Amino acid sequence: MDNQTILISGAGIAGPTLAFWLKAAGFTPTVVECAQALRTGGYVIDFWGLGYDVGERMGLTADIDRIGYHMREMRIVDDRGERLTGFGTKVFRELTGGRFVTLGRSDLSSLVFQKMKGATEVMFGDEIVGVQEQADHVGVQFKHAGERRFDLVIGADGLHSNIRRLVFGS
Ligand SMILES: Cc1cc2nc3c(=O)[nH]c(=O)nc-3n(C[C@H](O)[C@H](O)[C@H](O)COP(=O)(O)OP(=O)(O)OC[C@H]3O[C@@H](n4cnc5c(N)ncnc54)[C@H](O)[C@@H]3O)c2cc1C
Repeated sequence: MDNQTILISGAGIAGPTLAFWLKAAGFTPTVVECAQALRTGGYVIDFWGLGYDVGERMGLTADIDRIGYHMREMRIVDDRGERLTGFGTKVFRELTGGRFVTLGRSDLSSLVFQKMKGATEVMFGDEIVGVQEQADHVGVQFKHAGERRFDLVIGADGLHSNIRRLVFGS
C-alpha cells in the first residue's frame, strides 16, 4: 500500500481519532504533541450527531455515557445561586433519540487516546519545525527528535495550527 507512514500533529480529539481509524485501515500513524502529556481541563462540550456516531463505532459510548453529564436543565443564577431563568434540555434528548451527552473536552480526548494508545507511536513534548514536500515523501524536522520521512503529514493541531502556518504561511 502507498502512503503507509502518516504523521499527525496534535493529540487533541481529531488527532488520536484519526490515528485510530488510520491504524484500523492498515496505515502506520505517528502522533506528535507539543505538550508533555495529554492536555487536561478545559470546557465541557455537547456530544451528539456525527461525533456520537464515530464514538459509537469506536466502542466509546458506554464510557462516554458513564463519564458525561446528563443535563436536565440549563440555569442562569444570581450571585446567591438563585435561579433567574433557564430552559430544560429534554428537547435535545428527544431530537437526538437520547444520543446526547455533555462531557469534559479532556475526558473525551482521554477516552479517544486510550483507544489508540499502544498501537500507535506517540511523541509527547515535541513539535514539527520544518516540512518539505518531495516527490515521494515528506521531509520533517522535529524540534527535538531530528529529521524523519513520512508519506503524509496531517495537521490536527487545533485553532492555531502549526502545520497550517508552516505549509500555507501566516
Ligand atoms: C468554550 C468552548 C466550548 C465548546 N463547546 C463545544 C461543543 O459544545 N461541542 C463541540 O463539538 N465542540 C465544542 N467546542 C470545540 C471543541 O473543543 C473543539 O472543536 C475541539 O477541541 C477541537 O479538537 P481538535 O483535536 O481539532 O483540536 P484541539 O482539541 O485543540 O487539539 C489540538 C492539539 O494539538 C496540540 N498542538 C497545538 N500546537 C501544536 C504543535 N505545534 N505541535 C504539536 N501539537 C500541537 C495541542 O496541544 C492540542 O493537544 C468548544 C470549544 C470551546 C473553547
